[in-house]
Amino acid sequence: MRIDLHTHSCVSDGTEQPADVIASAAAAGLDAVALTDHDTTAGWAGAAAAARARGITFVPGMEVSCRSSEGISVHVLSYLHDPTHPGLLEEIARSRAARVTRAELMVQRLAEDFPIDWDSVQEQVAPGATIGRPHIADALVAAGVVPNRSAAFSGILTARSPYFVAHYAPDPARAAGLIREAGGVPVFAHPVASSRGRVVGEETFAEMIGAGLLGVEADHRDNPGPGREWLRRLAKDNDLLVTGSSDYHGTGKPNLLGEFTTDPAVLVRIAELGTGTAVVGPLPH
Ligand code: AMP
Ligand code: FE
Ligand code: FE
Ligand code: ZN
Repeated sequence: MRIDLHTHSCVSDGTEQPADVIASAAAAGLDAVALTDHDTTAGWAGAAAAARARGITFVPGMEVSCRSSEGISVHVLSYLHDPTHPGLLEEIARSRAARVTRAELMVQRLAEDFPIDWDSVQEQVAPGATIGRPHIADALVAAGVVPNRSAAFSGILTARSPYFVAHYAPDPARAAGLIREAGGVPVFAHPVASSRGRVVGEETFAEMIGAGLLGVEADHRDNPGPGREWLRRLAKDNDLLVTGSSDYHGTGKPNLLGEFTTDPAVLVRIAELGTGTAVVGPLPH
């Protein structure tokens, strides 16, 4: 089985509808795919229906935005959690609300120098979607300021840019704990993605493991090679699962479905450990 456990739809910052992500996954020859939109599970129903129709396996997931005590952005993937768990719902609702205020502030700053405004950014956001910098990037692309999202992220929208504003996000150890409480399987997404900015130190890994982290996404294009090996060693020493995935965002990023995959035995373990909701479709045997 070919398994990709990290993708985004337009319910967050991907460019395809959840059902179309499933269709693209089937077309890419994948047998199982997780939808892991940022801070929302609104895409699960559409993805599950499309997966049933196509006979491919769907793993309900989410990517929780976090910030470590050092102020570093951390993403924690959650698989198979109960989407109605109050503690986790409260945290993602708080992040999503903070993301709106933060986007407004960033757009205010950007509007002084570039031909975008709140309306032109809203045009890039699907109704109810989790807003993020990628949508601001899309407005900059539409205005002809940059050719694509990547160009926006390597300049105007970096965390070091004067236009950047941070938003509330939970501590990653707390998020891992809440995911476990909700019956989910927490996996640290692209943990050593140094191209995105600073990465966390060993204390944060230790705190997350102490709080119930169950896996690390070692095989991801943003983790440099030596970092992947370091993560495999960490996983071995701490009895963590190792996943590999694309982080597909439709046309929003160059990442291709199935460019990294997860071992079938790991998906079986995730399905055993996740008790908040069920995998849709057959598991590897
Ligand atoms: P935010 O959560 O609003 O701070 O924005 C971060 C999001 O931007 C992440 O989820 C990434 O998927 C996306 N992102 C980061 N770097 C890039 C890039 N170079 N090109 C496109 N999207 C990116
Ligand atoms: Fe994203
Ligand atoms: Fe991420
Ligand atoms: Zn992602």
